[in-house]
Amino acid sequence: MTSLKDPYARSIDYLRLAVTDRCNLRCVYCMPAEGIPHLDHADILTYEEIARALKVAVGAGISKVRLTGGEPLVRKDLDCLVAEVASLRPSLDISLTTNGTLLAAQAERLAAAGLRRVNISIDSLREDTYRRLTRTGRLRDALEGVEAALEAGMDPVKINVVVLPHLNEELEDFISLLRRLPVHVRFIEYMSPCGTIDGSFYVPAQEIKGALERFGELRRCRPPRGAGPARYFELPGARGTIGFISPVSSHFCPHCNRLRLTADGKLRPCLFSPFEIDLLRIMRNGGSDADILETIRVSLSAKPRDHGGLTDEDPGRTMSQIGG
Ligand code: SAM
Ligand code: SF4
Repeated sequence: MTSLKDPYARSIDYLRLAVTDRCNLRCVYCMPAEGIPHLDHADILTYEEIARALKVAVGAGISKVRLTGGEPLVRKDLDCLVAEVASLRPSLDISLTTNGTLLAAQAERLAAAGLRRVNISIDSLREDTYRRLTRTGRLRDALEGVEAALEAGMDPVKINVVVLPHLNEELEDFISLLRRLPVHVRFIEYMSPCGTIDGSFYVPAQEIKGALERFGELRRCRPPRGAGPARYFELPGARGTIGFISPVSSHFCPHCNRLRLTADGKLRPCLFSPFEIDLLRIMRNGGSDADILETIRVSLSAKPRDHGGLTDEDPGRTMSQIGG
């Protein structure tokens, strides 16, 4: 099996692909209330271009592809892209990160196309807090998305929760969810350099872990499939696990296996470095598959060893533009 390596001998086998920069929500930590100026349709990779780039990337050693955005489910016929990506290699691990609000209507089609697992972002299980955080979202829609994903047989279904100060008061809601449904809840530290609220809202994941101990002993456990940098724990009575992702308080750069492709076709080797290469332009200028492969290699050769400790230095774009 071929593999891609960066200059620090890390194997790069995971591509995060933003299929759009658009979103139907306006989460306070990710977007300003008025949204972000949209890219022109002409400047976004077509499904054909994505499939071509992925074919080369998979041939070179990428074995996991995550579709993200913006909100990936606002892009038309995403199931067609999933089917096309799934056809590249039967063993390819395809996943999706979504806010879930449009998932109920699409879950079955996506599963039929080859999507096996999904991460759904829900930062509060209280209708009023959810509305305040997303500005425009309805919690009911996101929860229907969770139910639809489970009914469609997706496994694991993970719930992503960005840790913000309100959470401490609302932990019992997530515990009830874990007792009711076989989902995995992951608490993710807020990264202010690519966010739209300031760093004073940051709460360490460790604080949430401590607060959760009041619901029972957390025991370290094996991760569900597609674990990435999270540490997982079991809690008595919960049907799924609890995970913590701590990009701020503890570095996982030494184990980073990621490459990103933005909706406008920029290869980006590190979330926190503004370095990008314009793959879209190379493809539209008649680049061959060998040129695509060479561009991937050049991009990886610029992958930094680490982000040097997160500071509030601007990474150039917000998460919705890079594909969080
Ligand atoms: N719209 C989809 C969603 O919300 O799941 C996919 C894109 S969103 C940018 C991907 C993930 O990044 C979400 O789980 C979101 O909560 C998270 N995110 C966005 N901005 C963040 C930040 N500044 N710090 C930590 N996580 C962030
Ligand atoms: Fe949209 Fe996801 Fe950003 Fe929320 S976190 S605004 S759902 S892209």
